[in-house]
Amino acid sequence: MIGRDRLYGRDGESVHVADGVRVAPARTLAGTSPSEGVPVVSDRISHWIDGKPFTGTPARSGDVFDPATGQVRAQVDFAGQAEVDQAVAAAAAALPGWRGTSLAGRTRVLFAFRELLSARKHELAKIVTSEHGKVESDAAGEIARAIENVEYACGAAQLLKGGFSENASTGVDVYSIAQPLGVVGVISPFNFPAMVPLWFVPNALACGNTVVLKPSEKDPSAAVFLAELFAEAGLPAGALNVLHGDKVAVDGLLEHRDVKAISFVGSTPIARYVYETGTRHGKRVQALGGAKNHMVVLPDADLDLAADAAVSAGFGSAGERCMAVSVVVAVDPVGDELVAKIAERIGRLKVGDGRDPESEMGPLVTRAHHERVESYVDAGVEAGASLVVDGRGVEVPGDGFWLGPTLFDHVRPEMSVYTDEIFGPVLSVARAGSYDDALDLINANSYGNGTAIFTGDGAAARRFQNEVEVGMVGVNVPIPVPVGYYSFGGWKDSLFGDSHAYGPEGFHFFTRTKVVTSRWPDRSHAGVNLGFPRNS
Ligand code: NAD
Repeated sequence: MIGRDRLYGRDGESVHVADGVRVAPARTLAGTSPSEGVPVVSDRISHWIDGKPFTGTPARSGDVFDPATGQVRAQVDFAGQAEVDQAVAAAAAALPGWRGTSLAGRTRVLFAFRELLSARKHELAKIVTSEHGKVESDAAGEIARAIENVEYACGAAQLLKGGFSENASTGVDVYSIAQPLGVVGVISPFNFPAMVPLWFVPNALACGNTVVLKPSEKDPSAAVFLAELFAEAGLPAGALNVLHGDKVAVDGLLEHRDVKAISFVGSTPIARYVYETGTRHGKRVQALGGAKNHMVVLPDADLDLAADAAVSAGFGSAGERCMAVSVVVAVDPVGDELVAKIAERIGRLKVGDGRDPESEMGPLVTRAHHERVESYVDAGVEAGASLVVDGRGVEVPGDGFWLGPTLFDHVRPEMSVYTDEIFGPVLSVARAGSYDDALDLINANSYGNGTAIFTGDGAAARRFQNEVEVGMVGVNVPIPVPVGYYSFGGWKDSLFGDSHAYGPEGFHFFTRTKVVTSRWPDRSHAGVNLGFPRNS
């Protein structure tokens, strides 16, 4: 059992010294305070390799912050090449056993994991909030969507069925089988520390692969919690490993001969790099990148509903979502009224510590990211956009990475506040003269992750879904994240590779197919024939 028997905290630890650095002994990660149900982490967050925490001395480590207080919460190990090799070796050693486990056996583990995750979801939400900063209800939403992906993977027996053609030629049967790729690497971003790993890990395992997961170094604890739950669900040691770190760990996976595929999610420059490097090393790669999501509001839209949607999708998770709405395109003449309604709703938002149930929006993830986002607000003002609501200087107790919701109007396409992915609580309104102008604006943008249209006109919505060059489209739905049995992915600079994440494309990505042509001995086909085989 994971839980109270593994409870530990900051006090009373013995430490050892590695290259002058004081390091707490390696421990498992997620425990629960018996009294309050508050997760406690050790000072050190270690890799999870071969079914247990890594006990070696980390070559390097990094700080993990509590973004609401600005305090360092823990130190996370950063892998060097030796730890990469160790994690990949553990996954490779586990491969024959896991690949050979029956579909019934594999799905049994996934069903058990689903039950454990459901039972422990509140603890996991608290861990996510304490390292990411998002409010707990939002963390719970992320986990709920993650569970959908686990449930999809539980259908592996149905999903991995091949085709069978009896008597394709006389006495000849042809059938296809889907087989795992081998050891696969999953590299995830900070903004969904539970959900994004679970976009890939359940499907990869269901297909018979073994996995090395490299979560974001900014909020690494959720990944270890998931690995512990998988172990408790009966996943054999080595089938899922968690390797912490930065570029060194990522490069180690991209270049490793025994890693057959990489699923990556993160910013566009790194996604492009991962795709190019991984494919150059002969791997199958899907690399999902950044976004700049537009929400078009047509003149016939219900402006109250549209303003609700813009605020929810613009400021949820402090805008740190790849499907956040970052540009509202107001089609004439609704701009002034819509901006007033959005501003009025922003005024009612409660910014605060994500652990406070009253809070609706938490802090940004790190001080560096906070500075970067704030610099975009400065740049927007300098470029001449109208600052309707200024989130700089928002007052929240403590030394957290706070930025209040910010609203710009009259944003033009050449401004950096429009061109760049800001990934913070900064919503821009751009004005468009017509539907066609709005469409042209979106299609000229280099990103193509998500978009939405708000209208009561079915024909306009239908035209939009057909014409817009974006991978995920909402019709009066601001954050159109596909359900687990469809697949998730953008177009253009939001995705490198051919496969979207999870759902049917996920299963496709994590398998390769064989076609078997078979004939059982029969005297009727005796005789030598050098001609190319024809079906008869
Ligand atoms: P990031 O690109 O900084 O990091 C993603 C991963 O890459 C992390 O594991 C990180 O350790 C690693 N990494 C960072 N720099 C690297 C380098 N130079 N070389 C190799 N690896 C490196 O992204 P982030 O800040 O963690 O996450 C936010 C970004 O992710 C945003 O751009 C957001 O849009 C994007 N995102 C996209 C999707 C999607 O589905 N398209 C989903 C979630 C997040």
